Amino acid sequence: MATVTLTNVAKRFGAFEVVHGANIDIADGEFVVFVGPSGCGKSTLLRMIAGLEDISGGEIAIGGKVVNDVEPADRGIAMVFQSYALYPHMSVEQNLSFGLRMTGNPKADTERRVKRAAEILRISELMERRPKKLSGGQRQRVAIGRAIVREPQVFLFDEPLSNLDAELRVQMRVEISRLHKELGATMVYVTHDQTEAMTLADRIVVLRAGHIEQIGRPLELYDNPDNIFVAGFVGSPK
Ligand code: ADP
Ligand code: MG
Repeated sequence: MATVTLTNVAKRFGAFEVVHGANIDIADGEFVVFVGPSGCGKSTLLRMIAGLEDISGGEIAIGGKVVNDVEPADRGIAMVFQSYALYPHMSVEQNLSFGLRMTGNPKADTERRVKRAAEILRISELMERRPKKLSGGQRQRVAIGRAIVREPQVFLFDEPLSNLDAELRVQMRVEISRLHKELGATMVYVTHDQTEAMTLADRIVVLRAGHIEQIGRPLELYDNPDNIFVAGFVGSPK
């Protein structure tokens, strides 16, 4: 578990500023959801926390340590994307263990981590299967499993469920909620889905065109939206 702190974080692509001085304080073990329309900067913010994108201004700290110049692999984070490219020629077990094997993690520890992730995600009976023999939901579980085996302090999710059909989305939402309770890790979750945001979040960050419109608990935002935009996004009747 770790805190994640963004102080005046900005991002420019050339002359175009897509994130304008964002300030966000995420507590140890908190589940924070970034919501907002397409193009408002959700993925860019997440990618800056992950270190996949340089920041143009400000500071990002994880666990109290400024990570602006720290490589993604050394930030204690793991990211889950919407397109979960599993290795097609590898079994589930190999997909889960590959990253750890590549970094020379001891074999017994790798086996322990893979076994634990499989149990948490209830995919232990699928370990010998190839991805093409899995359902969409099972594949997404394996993708989340690849993040779990890294035992990160912070999980970053970028619209992980948007490729799943409606029924599976509901099921996986419940799974992710359970995962958060079980692991106690800090989670930062990006979605444009209002229901996902309202049901998963301890706190929601509402973004609009690179600005934070409001940060609050789901019911706070619902009951007291600062403006019509926030009201629209959290579905309050105002
Ligand atoms: P979201 O995830 O909320 O849909 P993004 O963070 O992907 O939004 O994008 C925010 C803005 O930054 C968009 O206007 C997008 O076109 C722009 N953008 C994202 N990545 C790049 C890039 N590599 N080069 C230039 N513009 C980019
Ligand atoms: Mg995005």
